[in-house]
This record gives sequence, structure tokens and C-alpha cells, in this order.
Amino acid sequence: MVMPADTPRRTARGKNPNRSREHNRRVVLDLLRSQGRTGRRELAELTQLTPQAVTNIIDDLIAADLIVIAGRRRIARGRGQPPHEYEINPAGAFTIGIELAVTRMVTTVVDLAGELLHRDVTAIAEGGPATLLPAIGTRVAQLRADHPGRLMGLGLVMPGPFEIEGFSGVGPTTLPGWAGIDVAADLRDRLGVPVVVENDANAAAVGETLLGVGKEMTDFCVVYFGTGIGLGLISEGRPVRGAFGNAGEIGHIVVTPGGRPCPCGQHGCLERYASLHSLRERLADDGRVLSVDDLDTLAPEGDPVVAAWLEDAAAHLSPMISILENVFDPQTIILSGGLPPACLDAIIARLSFGPSVARRSDRMVPPVIRGQSGLLTAALGAAALPLHEAITPRLDLSDLQETTLKGSAP
Ligand SMILES: [Zn+2]
Repeated sequence: MVMPADTPRRTARGKNPNRSREHNRRVVLDLLRSQGRTGRRELAELTQLTPQAVTNIIDDLIAADLIVIAGRRRIARGRGQPPHEYEINPAGAFTIGIELAVTRMVTTVVDLAGELLHRDVTAIAEGGPATLLPAIGTRVAQLRADHPGRLMGLGLVMPGPFEIEGFSGVGPTTLPGWAGIDVAADLRDRLGVPVVVENDANAAAVGETLLGVGKEMTDFCVVYFGTGIGLGLISEGRPVRGAFGNAGEIGHIVVTPGGRPCPCGQHGCLERYASLHSLRERLADDGRVLSVDDLDTLAPEGDPVVAAWLEDAAAHLSPMISILENVFDPQTIILSGGLPPACLDAIIARLSFGPSVARRSDRMVPPVIRGQSGLLTAALGAAALPLHEAITPRLDLSDLQETTLKGSAP
């Protein structure tokens, strides 16, 4: 995607004097991941680290198997051999992503370059932690045996919200029985690797920053169609979680006062119109059952029930899009999740945009675009979580001022 020249980029600066070696490693890794093969001199220019600091980091990263020499620069700048260029070593490490949903567990394995190495889907009969936590432990042990290289971490996606009594911790779109359990700590003890637990929308948003259309962006929203509907928010390159981990719970915001009753006790929540669950209800009224396998074949055109749902979903989602634009002023809003690409495109085509801060004439990216789509979306996002934790530099205030005020001038 072509970005406007003044768009803030995710590139952080290195820190030369006595600053964190770990931060500098992340800056270099992140650059190599997003830019592809790059030489020392260019890395030093981009990070504003000294050539010696870059050389030390490159040696570290090669020793850790995280990067490799990609070859020599194709055009020599001076006399002698052209300098080496470096790139991410895809086989150097891998991450595992697991999505726990109400009826299934989706597992993905991705390499350091974000390539999918493995996927599988298992049906879940009983969603309690007493059976599922050991099951995850066993599954991860099997995957480690199957894949050479270092396991960088596990990302686990579960539907939120977390620990909200009497709100939406009830109903068909949440997992029962998990309240009060420190899932990340339990799995860290079992597996001995970093574990990141997120809701599906935040994981999808992190997935877009590392593996998807959000690669070049710093500030964007992901509206995620899971069983319910959620919002993942990336601000300054990092997910916004809120004080208690529940930022982005847009599913139970009332968009139609006095509308359809919701298990949360309100009427007219967004989730009652724009979610997979609401689509399933529409189809059930028509005597049809929508299974996971049917999802990818769901056709927006030519199916009157699906078409009616798409209209209804878009109509109720439109005011939420306008709220997100005006509250967050994002570079774009990405629709993603467990719907097939054609359905997400159909919803985007049916959105009606009112006046908002996003109606600018100089836009290079449309206000709403489609991101990752289909059954694997959340599990891929889950696999991106430990990768993000391990390699993405934190933009602190001084970095931010530099990157946003000066833009991406090389
Ligand atoms: Zn509700």
C-alpha cells in the first residue's frame, strides 16, 4: 500500500549513549523485518546508531540465529567488495498462536518472517480451564517436537471482556468458567516460554501490524468479527488495552435504543446486529445451521438471508465507524475477523459515511479497508503477539516526536 509522505511510520530510532542494548536490538530487528534485506550503513542511517553499535547488534543477532547474511549489495558504492546485506532468518525461531473460542480451538505456527508453518482446528466439547489448560500444554509440546528452532512464545486468544461481573461475562459469545484464573501465569509455568493472553480483537490488530495491512501504520482501529464484535486499537504502534484490559469492548454499546434484547440486559447492543452470532440467528430463523465449515463458502450475493443481514449489520456499524473516526482519528479502520473476504467487502460497500474528521480530501488510504479474513485470523494474530513482544521497540516520547514531526524522510 502506498502511504502519503507525511504519514507517521512505525520506525523507531536507536539510542546511542548508554541506552538499552535490548531496545537497539529490537529497533534493528524490526527494521529488517519490515524493510527486508538491508546493509549496515543503511541500518545505521535509519536507526541513527553508530556504525560500531550496528555492527555489534548484527553480530549478536547472527549469533542468536535471528538474522542471516542475505548476500552482498548488488551495486558497489566504492572500491572493493560490495558490503553485506542482512535479513530476518525465518527458521531462527517460531511462535505458536492458539484461539480458544466457544466451540473450537484453532492453532497456528508461524516462523520469524510471519509465514504460516502449520494450522489445525479442533472441536471443543467442554470449555473449562481444568481440561483445556493441560490440553494446550500437551499440544504445544507436540508442536515443539514437530518444529526445529526456538519457540519464542505462545499467544493465546480468548474472547473478552475479562472479569466483568454481571455485564457481558454471560451469554453465548463468551467462555464460561475462566473468571479468576491467571491463564498467562499458568501456561508460562507449564511451558517455560513467554505467554501473551489477549482478546481476539487486540490480537487481530497486532497481527495486522506485523503480518497484514497495518505494517506501515502507527495508529489504526480493527473492528473484529469474532462470535461477537470487538475493537482492537493500535496507537503509536502498540495495542491499547485500557486500565483493566478491556478497552475496545464495543459489542455492548447500544446503537439502537429500545432495540433487540441482549443477554447483557440492555436492548439494541451493536453485537445483536453486527456479529457472527446475529448472522447465525438470522439463518436459524430460516431453518439453517451455519457451521464453521460453511463460513468460507458463505456467499453475500444470491443468498437473501445473508444479504439482509449484511444490510442490517452495515446500518448499525456505520454510526460506530463514525464514533471511532471522531474519537481516535485513525489512519484507517480495518474490518477483519471470521467472515469470508466477500462478506467483509460487502459490509464495507454498504457502510454509509456521515461527516467526520476522516472525510479529508488528501486521504491516501480509504477510511475503511479489509484486513485478515477467515477462520485463521485470530489464531494468526495470537501467533503475532509473542513476536510483537519480542521484537517491536517501544516508541517513547522522544522517538515519537521525531517520527511524527519529521515524518519518514530517509
Ligand atoms: Zn449487550
